[in-house]
Amino acid sequence: MTQPSNFKLLTNETAIALTKKLGLIHTNDSLQCNEIGDGNLNYVFHVTNPDTNKGVIIKQAVPYAKVLGESWPLTLKRAAIEANALIQFGSYCPEFVPKVYYSDEQLAITIMEDLSHLKIARTGLIDGNHFPLLSKHIGEFVAKTAFYTSDFHLEPSAKKEVARNFTNPELCKITEVFIFTDPFFEEHPGEFELELKVAAQTIWNDAELILEVAKLKQCFESEQEALLHGDLHTGSIFASDIETKVIDPEFAFYGPVGFDLGQYIANLLFQAITRPAAEKEEIFTYLQEFLDTFEETYTALWNSDNKSPYSKVDGYLSYVLTKFKSDAYGFAGCELIRRTIGLSHVADLNGIENKETRIAAKTATLKVGAYLIKNRKELNIPTVNEIVKQYTLASYSTL
Ligand code: ADP
Ligand code: MG
Repeated sequence: MTQPSNFKLLTNETAIALTKKLGLIHTNDSLQCNEIGDGNLNYVFHVTNPDTNKGVIIKQAVPYAKVLGESWPLTLKRAAIEANALIQFGSYCPEFVPKVYYSDEQLAITIMEDLSHLKIARTGLIDGNHFPLLSKHIGEFVAKTAFYTSDFHLEPSAKKEVARNFTNPELCKITEVFIFTDPFFEEHPGEFELELKVAAQTIWNDAELILEVAKLKQCFESEQEALLHGDLHTGSIFASDIETKVIDPEFAFYGPVGFDLGQYIANLLFQAITRPAAEKEEIFTYLQEFLDTFEETYTALWNSDNKSPYSKVDGYLSYVLTKFKSDAYGFAGCELIRRTIGLSHVADLNGIENKETRIAAKTATLKVGAYLIKNRKELNIPTVNEIVKQYTLASYSTL
């Protein structure tokens, strides 16, 4: 793969020099810089003025996936895709994304608003923090980005032009392999505890399930409904009790709307599965609010801004929303399974120290995942609530 010859990995010193050169932090004093990336793919430099606490974030891609090693080369173009997606999303809902101050495709960097005053939603939820506006905000974010980038709003030829700029084959391949393929084949297993082998085998041997995953993978690969974030899990969201910001859209591409919906749903479900019974309800409130807000916002945009000659046809909006939701539950099921027996695990599950409790939670996760995939066409949140309770009770009762 050819990479731009003038790519150079930043150091703390060059990150500070660049910030000063661009005049992004006005100071005569010295600035500080730390590399804070806990991510799997990139470096994140936090440049601050210690006197005022003002800062910027410089995110830099490297020509391989940090977590997968240098043997998995990855285009630096993902940095430009991330910067452009943040700008595009920011044009529809600036309140939900960091401001982009500068980007450089050759250096593969994006310089953006420092969000250190917020907490990554996954960490906050695990710590038992409450985020009363999180789901409302993410529901609005997905509805607006999904509607405004679709054929319902853009001229179809203009949409294809945008889609071309967000062609992202290498990052899509990560999803195709690690979400939609490897976890479902015994001969390409990911990493998981030996105690999960039987539950994993139940998945691999379930012909009905495997056929449904094939259909979902096909949907992911071939349907260009809207510009997606592409990795909308709770680790890609910064939140407080009043603010919500979506980061890290390097997987952005034109795909099925249900994928973004499903990633968020699944990552809330890890919490619903792992929390004690009395604390599960809060998560189901988040889930219901998320889908309700998505639907209300999308419906309002459809009624006011839909340019399709068919927009007023009876039943059309309802057909579109029903499809989004059924795809969403299916994709959520794939995410639940891949985070359990695939390559990239989540702290919600892996952070459970007691091994038996962890295995019980993971077993329930696999069962809920399979159920969502197979029953995606007739699901709603109250039913998902019942299923989660039923499977967690069954798994935990064997302890
Ligand atoms: P990756 O693409 O490598 O997964 P992320 O974009 O998820 O990287 O960023 C990794 C970490 O860096 C985040 O979890 C967060 O702690 C920190 N980070 C990223 N962007 C910002 C930001 N704008 N403000 C503050 N911290 C950030
Ligand atoms: Mg990332």
